[in-house]
Amino acid sequence: MSRKINIAIDGHSSCGKGTLAKNLAKELEYMFIDSGAMYRAVTLYLMQNDISLEEVQANPGVLLDIEISFRLDPMRGFYNTHLNGENVEREIRGMAVSSQVSQVSAVKEIREFLVDKQKRMGENKGVVMDGRDIGTVVFPDAELKIFMTAEPMVRAKRRYDELTEKGIPANLEEIYNNIRYRDEYDSSRDVSPLIQAPDAIVLNNTEMSREEQARIAVTWAKGVIMAG
Ligand code: C5P
Repeated sequence: MSRKINIAIDGHSSCGKGTLAKNLAKELEYMFIDSGAMYRAVTLYLMQNDISLEEVQANPGVLLDIEISFRLDPMRGFYNTHLNGENVEREIRGMAVSSQVSQVSAVKEIREFLVDKQKRMGENKGVVMDGRDIGTVVFPDAELKIFMTAEPMVRAKRRYDELTEKGIPANLEEIYNNIRYRDEYDSSRDVSPLIQAPDAIVLNNTEMSREEQARIAVTWAKGVIMAG
């Protein structure tokens, strides 16, 4: 049996990190973990329970009541995010959570809480995780690191189509503005800002199909696995 590696996929908002990560995980029979969904689930929990970020900073213990899991939807073949046992996949993708998640994920205590969980998920290797700080903080030793980017308007259109397909109401201009805002916020925050790891390979997919991206990434991954 070939050795297992961890794969870190980072990059800007809505540039297809999740899709690429899912395709890679499927091809290699690895576990896919959407770290952004974890920040979204924490955001939803704080909104639902009316807990401010100041309260979390003063008492990080409140986070211990949050349990996040990914459960396979056998009918549709993808994983849904569950928050304390409840399927919140739809809610965490909506604008209400999207407009708060960057502030929530800039809080040191929240990052420590989730990074610790994420590191543990990768202990046995065989994980493809996508996010903003996977190659720099969560898996600094990942054998393969990919940094993805694409033109902002192309990303906004893709996100718009994705939401509309799922039946989630969407507005292109609002999505575009949210993407620009999150790019800026995620790149300039003090704690674990979005930066390219020095050993990451850049994948600009502005003009690439999903299939092309998957083909390239699988070739990279297999190359690394064989080289080990
Ligand atoms: O990946 P996604 O766009 O769903 O992530 C939502 C938000 O969560 C990002 O805009 C970013 O603020 C935050 N995030 C993060 N670190 C990660 C993953 C996501 O700060 N590893």
